[in-house]
Amino acid sequence: MSIDLNHGSGFTYGAGAPSLNARLNALIDRALVAQNEAQPKRTYLGGSRIGEACNRRLVYEYTHTPHDPDKAFTGQTLRIFAAGHQFEELSIRWIRAAGFELLTQRRDGGQFGFETAGGRIKGHIDGVIVDGPDIGMPWPALFEHKALKAKSWADVVRRGVELSKPVYYAQLQLYMAYMELDVALFTCLNKDTQELHHEQVGFLPHVAQALSDKAADIIRAAEANDLPPRIAANPDFHVCRFCPFHSTCWEATP
Ligand code: SF4
Repeated sequence: MSIDLNHGSGFTYGAGAPSLNARLNALIDRALVAQNEAQPKRTYLGGSRIGEACNRRLVYEYTHTPHDPDKAFTGQTLRIFAAGHQFEELSIRWIRAAGFELLTQRRDGGQFGFETAGGRIKGHIDGVIVDGPDIGMPWPALFEHKALKAKSWADVVRRGVELSKPVYYAQLQLYMAYMELDVALFTCLNKDTQELHHEQVGFLPHVAQALSDKAADIIRAAEANDLPPRIAANPDFHVCRFCPFHSTCWEATP
């Protein structure tokens, strides 16, 4: 007897019944989606999102506007998020093994972070490197980590985080501002090959100030029930095509 490992055992409960593979994956995905939906909703604008190019999208996020049904978080998306946390844990372990004092928790066990604007803007940082071998950068340094697909990772290596990933770059600038750090180490891991890329990013106060002003504008708009202008004049604009609020934005609102 042969077993097709890609498509389950082949046994079904009846003609046309879904395979073992489909049934098990459906159960896993349903559990992950249910767990995610049971999480308390964010009551703040996350510092990691402020670099997002479209202000209207940020207002939708801040006000918990539902995603378009075809763009809701799937089990697979949630698995990708969870795997990213595991990759981060590995990178932290490797960096510590190389002799760097990388702190990821406060003394009381809480996560490092900040909040401002009466708790309406918050950020949670991956860590702070307070000491380590001489690699040509000063300590302490903000530590931020991302796990990326090979193509995306290669683009960061080629163009640098500022050009390749402006949302991450904005996150670094804001976090340095609020954590009062002059420098950041941005580490990204290639999820296919486990290659690591590290970049030193210096603090630019005018960039952080502009982002902070932008965050205040988003909150003001959301609290006044205003929608900022769209980022594009056409719903086929590439940024819009991947936006989880596409239908809401282009069909349901003027
Ligand atoms: S669909 Fe486009 S304009 Fe509308 S919120 Fe999304 S990114 Fe912004």
